[in-house]
This record gives sequence, C-alpha cells and structure tokens, in this order.
Amino acid sequence: MKRHNFSAGPCILPGEVLQKASEAVINFDNGLSLLEISHRSKPFVDVMENARALALELLGLEGKGYKALFLQGGASTQFLMVALNMLEKRAGYLNTGTWSDKAIKEAKIYDDIYEVASSKDANYNYIPKGYDIPTDYDYFHCTSNNTIFGTQMKEFPNSPIPMVCDMSSDIFSRQLDFSQFDLIYAGAQKNMGPAGATLVVVKEDVLGKVSRKIPSMMDYKVHIGKSSMFNTPPVFSVYVSMLTLQWLKDLGGIAAIEKENDKKAQLIYSEIDLNPLFKGFSTKADRSTMNATFTLANDHLKETFETMVKEAGINGLNGHRSVGGYRASMYNALSLESVGILVDVMSELERKA
Ligand SMILES: *Cc1c(COP(=O)(O)O)cnc(C)c1O
Repeated sequence: MKRHNFSAGPCILPGEVLQKASEAVINFDNGLSLLEISHRSKPFVDVMENARALALELLGLEGKGYKALFLQGGASTQFLMVALNMLEKRAGYLNTGTWSDKAIKEAKIYDDIYEVASSKDANYNYIPKGYDIPTDYDYFHCTSNNTIFGTQMKEFPNSPIPMVCDMSSDIFSRQLDFSQFDLIYAGAQKNMGPAGATLVVVKEDVLGKVSRKIPSMMDYKVHIGKSSMFNTPPVFSVYVSMLTLQWLKDLGGIAAIEKENDKKAQLIYSEIDLNPLFKGFSTKADRSTMNATFTLANDHLKETFETMVKEAGINGLNGHRSVGGYRASMYNALSLESVGILVDVMSELERKA
C-alpha cells in the first residue's frame, strides 16, 4: 500500500532522492561507498561545494556576501552558536513557540535577552505583530515557521539591526527576499535531507564583532575559512541534502514548489474550515503552509478517525503533546495527492458521523 507520510520531522523525502542515496551507500565512487571514502577526496569535496552553491542559488543569495555552511549539532546548536558569534550586549527575540523559547534560553547563557513580543498568552496560536525592535541591540531573532503550533510568519519586520532566522521547517518552501536576513539556519531533517546536517547561511560582514573568544567548532569564521570542512562533515546528510536541492532546482526552484505548497495548504485548510467535525488550532491569518494543526471538535470520534487514517496508509499525523490533536506536515516532497487522501478521510468521517 502507498504510504502518505505527514511526519513533522525527520520527514518525507523525494522518492528519487532516496533511490540515488541508497545507491551511493553501496557504490559512490569506483566501487566504494559514500560512507567509506575520505571527505577530503575530490568526489566528496565536489558534493560539499555543490550543496553549498545550490543552497545560495536557490535562495537567490549568490554574490551577495553570504556563505553557506553544513554544520553538525542540529538547529539546537545554532541557538547557542548564534549568541556566541553575535551577542555582545543584548539581543531581541520574538517568542512564537517552543523553538523560539529554547533559542532564548540558550542565548541567555551569554548575555541579556529582551523578548520583543510573545504569543505565549494564547499557547502560541498566533504571530505577534506591531512590535518595536530596539535599534541599539546586536541582532533580532525570529522563527519563520513554528513546527509545533502550525503558525508561520507571513511578513518580517523591517529590522534596523541584523536579523537572524530559524527556518528549520520552512526553508526552500516559499519565496522570500532572503537578503533581508543576515543569518539563516535550518536543520536538514525537515525540508532538505536526513538528520545530521544543519544549513547555516550567513552574511560574512555580521561576523567578527564580539569580543569573547569563540571555541573553534562554534566559530562561523573558522568553518567559513575551511569551506565547511573544518572537521569531518556529516557526509551522508550533506550528500542527500545536495540531491534534494538538485531535485528542487530541476522542478523549477522555490517559485515552483511554492505553488504546490499553496495548493496543499488550501486543500487541507478548506476542509478544516468546512467540516464541522474539525477545528483549526492557529488563527487563520498566521496558518502555516508546512504544518497544519487541528483537533476533532468532539473527542468521541477519535478512535474511528484514527482507524480510518491508518487504513488509508497515512503516517505521522499525531499532534505534538503541547498542542494535542493532529498535525499534518506537508513539506516539499509530500504530494498534493497525499493531502487529497487525508482530506477524503476527513470528509468520509463527516458522512459516517
Ligand atoms: C525541529 C526544529 C528545531 C530543532 O532542530 P534539531 O535539528 O533537532 O536541533 C529547531 N527549530 C525549529 C523551527 C524546528 O522545527
């Protein structure tokens, strides 16, 4: 049976990418596995360079003073690495959920943090708007898509100070002017590849301004100086990320995938709004095109619905424990057809109930 993978992360990857990746595990270069060759060998250096170039190309940031790095430690390590490299006195953070909250907690280890706004008062079901960003802070940090709560920033502030964005769960999913950000980071496992690599895209001129000593592994300048090869990179994750970025480029890039992502989001949200058995979690204006969060209006249908979901081959629909209910994650590789299958199950439930 065909499986429809709505998992929030690690998540669905394109079938052809998985096929190529599995072949490279057996034979990547002259009978040697990708996993057993030197990361300093020409074939792998080419992979790393290609992955870095594709990331900048897809984001429209080539030749604009940015560098792309594939680092380890997940987006969670970026919470502290950003602070170590950029926080001298004080930074402003927008708190839109669990991940922003964790980023704030890590940065607080190094210096003072000011929450410019928070949506905690409503369990993060909306994105705060109309806040001020102090002009004398080191940087402003925000989370573009809140994977757990299913909210997404549709607009970004005109920040007077460098803007840092955690784009783990919606990078490469929609067109934005990416040059408004000075540093973007994203764990690979949501929209790019397997866990293990974290993409960091940084404008070089925001670095080197703090007075503290930075440990080498935590220093963006060290990684830039070594072309993202300061130590052994996560070769498999970088390779698969490269394949996914190539797949996206061949499809027509972010502009093309954004159209598909909008269709998928429209399909599920119109069902959530029209079907009286379901309720959306996020306020309408801030709904994420990547993670749709919803609950059953009445819990007595839980068992019936979940059995139907399972029988349809749908995987990974459980909501995060801090929200409950369901979460349909619709990353780039998920087809419109899969969303159609889920919507059919939801409307079938309405007919049965
Ligand atoms: C998943 C996620 C993270 C954490 O990523 P790790 O790679 O597991 O550290 C951080 N931020 C956002 C927005 C996420 O979705």
